Amino acid sequence: MPTVRNWQLGREMDYIYDESRPDRQVSSVFDINKCIACQTCTMSCKAIWTSGKGQEYMFWNSVETKPWGSYPLGWDVKILDMLGPQRWDTSGPSAVYEGKTVFEAAPEGERVLGYLPENEDYANPNRGEDETSEPIDPSKFHLQDLHAIWNFYLARICMHCTYPACLASCPRKAIYKRKEDGIVLIDQERCRGYRECVRACPYKRVLYNHVTRISEKCIFCYPAVEKGIWPRCMRNCIGKIRMVGYISPPGEADPENPIDYLVYVKKLALPLYPQLGLEPNIYYVPPIHVPPEFNRQMFGPGADEAVETYKRIRTGQEPELRAILLLNTSTNKILTKFRLEGDEAVGFDVNGQEAVRVMLVEKEIVRPYRDDTVGVYRHNIT
Ligand code: SF4
Ligand code: SF4
Repeated sequence: MPTVRNWQLGREMDYIYDESRPDRQVSSVFDINKCIACQTCTMSCKAIWTSGKGQEYMFWNSVETKPWGSYPLGWDVKILDMLGPQRWDTSGPSAVYEGKTVFEAAPEGERVLGYLPENEDYANPNRGEDETSEPIDPSKFHLQDLHAIWNFYLARICMHCTYPACLASCPRKAIYKRKEDGIVLIDQERCRGYRECVRACPYKRVLYNHVTRISEKCIFCYPAVEKGIWPRCMRNCIGKIRMVGYISPPGEADPENPIDYLVYVKKLALPLYPQLGLEPNIYYVPPIHVPPEFNRQMFGPGADEAVETYKRIRTGQEPELRAILLLNTSTNKILTKFRLEGDEAVGFDVNGQEAVRVMLVEKEIVRPYRDDTVGVYRHNIT
């Protein structure tokens, strides 16, 4: 089996095909601290892509409440259990994963370690919604830096992985990764509905259509991306948690690229369950109020450092990060570069044109209580 480099593991790993990175790789960063679980993303995706026959149960985008929520039921707990011990060696300058990936742990004769969910596992997508980590005990009910009782919302789409398990598992070679942007698609003509991809994807982001008898998945709204515009779930996000761009190949980080800056330079945005080995291209700013060990299991050994970095943004110590977060709440265009100009942040679109300009800190203007020019009293509202 070929060996490929997975930078998120800090080592080489086994994969069924040779390393073949696309010319450009779309990527997105989700700031978990901002998600309010309004499910607008979920429903905006559903309205355009999964409102047909056989798609009733499907959510290409879903948002689950952690620690108890999941769609399909128990997807992450199940695969983590199957995978066995997942250790990281953190003694060197960068962490190295010492456990097995889903490719390396595949049973004899199979390409990927996985399981096929039962139909019922998709029946309750809101299970655990808004539940807290433990019952609320009034004696513990106080706010601290780390909350005694906690939950958070995990928005998920297909990760458009560098090493997709869905693609690796398909006996028909019906799944492909686009050279121009790294979006992973299923060729609907070639697919015969064997569901090997549904079994293999550890994030359970491929869904089977029982009417057409072929598999389907998130297409990262590629018609929008081709025009330099964000996918719909990202555009409609109420909490403005999402940022869209292109991530450079590992080792070629461009500090002016907003995604590179978040992922490689500041390591604020982390992959979800990197130990699975797929090198997913959706990254998360981890929640800052939950137990560190939970974050580390979910986002890898860099989670503690990312939380500390995020806290520094709030105190004004990371102006570049603040600039990126502000720019991305102010545009629907894919930004490829950003710059700080005095107290303003500027973002540039896929053509290198200025697309958005925002103040780093909103100006505060206090008006006189009485306006003598028109003879009225005014209240300042903040
Ligand atoms: S998240 Fe799953 S469906 Fe999406 S590319 Fe990765 S393996 Fe395939
Ligand atoms: S629209 Fe945004 S804030 Fe609302 S649930 Fe989706 S990701 Fe979270």
